[in-house]
Amino acid sequence: MTVSNHFDVIVIGSGPGGEGAAMGLTKAGLNVAIIEKESSVGGGCTHWGTIPSKALRHAVSRIIEFNNNPLFCKNNTSLHSTFSNILSHAKTVIDKQTRLRQGFYDRNECALIFGSARFIESNKVAVMQSDGSDEIYTADKFVIATGSRPYRPDNVDFNHERIYDSDSILSLKHDPRHIIIYGAGVIGCEYASIFRGLGVKTDLINTRDRLLSFLDNEVSDALSYHFWNSGVVIRNDETYEHVEGTEDGVIVHLQSGKKMKADCILYANGRTGNTDKLNLEAVSLAADSRGQLKVNSNYQTEVEHVYAVGDVIGYPSLASAAYDQGRFVAQAITKGQADNYLIEDIPTGIYTIPEISSVGKTEQELTAAKVPYEVGRSSFKHLARAQIAGKDIGSLKILFHRETKEILGIHCFGERAAEIIHIGQAIMEQKGEANTIEYFVNTTFNYPTMAEAYRVAALNGLNRLF
Ligand SMILES: Cc1cc2nc3c(=O)[nH]c(=O)nc-3n(C[C@H](O)[C@H](O)[C@H](O)COP(=O)(O)OP(=O)(O)OC[C@H]3O[C@@H](n4cnc5c(N)ncnc54)[C@H](O)[C@@H]3O)c2cc1C
Repeated sequence: MTVSNHFDVIVIGSGPGGEGAAMGLTKAGLNVAIIEKESSVGGGCTHWGTIPSKALRHAVSRIIEFNNNPLFCKNNTSLHSTFSNILSHAKTVIDKQTRLRQGFYDRNECALIFGSARFIESNKVAVMQSDGSDEIYTADKFVIATGSRPYRPDNVDFNHERIYDSDSILSLKHDPRHIIIYGAGVIGCEYASIFRGLGVKTDLINTRDRLLSFLDNEVSDALSYHFWNSGVVIRNDETYEHVEGTEDGVIVHLQSGKKMKADCILYANGRTGNTDKLNLEAVSLAADSRGQLKVNSNYQTEVEHVYAVGDVIGYPSLASAAYDQGRFVAQAITKGQADNYLIEDIPTGIYTIPEISSVGKTEQELTAAKVPYEVGRSSFKHLARAQIAGKDIGSLKILFHRETKEILGIHCFGERAAEIIHIGQAIMEQKGEANTIEYFVNTTFNYPTMAEAYRVAALNGLNRLF
C-alpha cells in the first residue's frame, strides 16, 4: 500500500488502545494511519506487559500442577524449569499475537507507519526513522495511544545488570536463585508468583500495609496467606533508601534500617505515561506529573482535534479497558459522540497463583457506606469439578443486598477466577430485578463445573436471611 501524507486520523501507538481506535475508524470508512515506534505492532500489552506475563504465569502454573499431581509425579521426580526456559514459551505467544494483530491492519487497509512520532505543528507529526531522518505526516485529528512504561526513580541504577523493571526482566540473562521484588502492586504480585513457582527464593517489598489494598480484605488476606505458605517473604510498609548493585547481585537498604540481599531486583513500583517524546507543546497540550493526559467523556483532550485513550489517560490502565476506549473514541470521532462508555464496575483480573478476580463492591466499601448486605460463599474444595481437576484451593463470595437481593459485589479466588467472574458479572450488569442473587438458584448449571460455585454461594447466602 502506498502511504500518502495526509490522513483523516492519525493514531499514535499500536497497543490495545490504538488498535481499537484504528479499527473502529477504518471500519467507519475514514482514511487512517497508525504510527508505531517499535518494529512490530501490539504495543506494550503484547510485547512487555499482559501477554508475556500471562504466558509465563501459565507455564509456571502448569509446572506446579504437574509437580503436585501424584499421577505424573512418581518416584519423587519433579519437573523443574527456569525463567529463561519459560520465556521461550512466552515468545511464541508474542509472535502469534503480533502476526494476528498485523493481519487486522492489512485486512482493513490501515496505513502502518513505523517510527517514533512527535508533534511539530498542530496538525503535523514528524516520524523519526531508524537512520535519524524524519518523515512528515498530517491529519485532521489525532488519537494518542502511546501507553505507559515502568516508572524509574533517578536514584536507582537501571543500567546495572542485576536491576530490572517489568520490561527489562524479559531480557533476564541469568537464572536467579533469589530475587527481590520491590512494589507489591498487581505486577509485583504476579511476578512474585512466577518466580516463586519456579522455586526462586522471593522477597516481596510492599510500600503499603497490606497486599493489593483495593481488593476485598478477605481476598487480600488469602493472597498473603498463600504467598506466605509458598515461601514468599513479604515485607509490608517498607520503602527503599537506596538500591546498591554489587558484582553478583543487589542489596536493598530500607528506610527502616533493614537490608536485603539477592541475586537481582525487579523494581515494579508505578508507571509513567509515554508523553515526554511527543513534543506536546507543539499542539498546545501538557501532560501531568505522571505523564498522563486529561480527557473528557469522549476521550477528547483539552485540544479539540486531539484525543487520547489507554494507559496514557491513567485509570484503569488495563488492556481490557484500552480496547474499549479505542472503540469508543472511534465512535466519538465519527459520530461526534461515543455510543458507549466504559462500564462502571470494571472487573479486575489478577493472575497471581492462585488467581484473583472481582467485580463490584468490597465488604469494606459496603460496610463504610452502611449498606445492609449479606454474604454467600462457596469453597472450591466442595465442588466436584474442582476435586476432579485437583484445584480445590479457592472460593467464590457473592455480596448482595439483604432486602432487594441485588448483587453488589463478587470476589473470586482460585483457578480460573478471571473467567468465573464473568458469569456473575453478566447477571450483575442486568438492570432492575434481573440482577438478583436468586438467578443462581433458579437456573440449571452444567455439572460438574466451576460455575456451580454460584449456585452453592447463592444458596449459602440466601440461607442466612431471616
Ligand atoms: C507486566 C504487566 C502485566 C499486565 N497485565 C495485564 C492484564 O493481565 N490484564 C490487563 O487488562 N492489563 C494488563 N496490563 C496492562 C496493559 O498492558 C496496559 O493497560 C495496556 O497495554 C495499555 O494499552 P495502551 O494501548 O494504552 O498502551 P500500550 O499497550 O503500552 O501500547 C502503546 C504503544 O505506543 C507506542 N508508542 C509510544 N510512544 C510512541 C511514539 N512517540 N510514537 C509511536 N509509537 C509510540 C509504544 O511503542 C507501544 O507500542 C499489564 C501491564 C504490565 C506491564
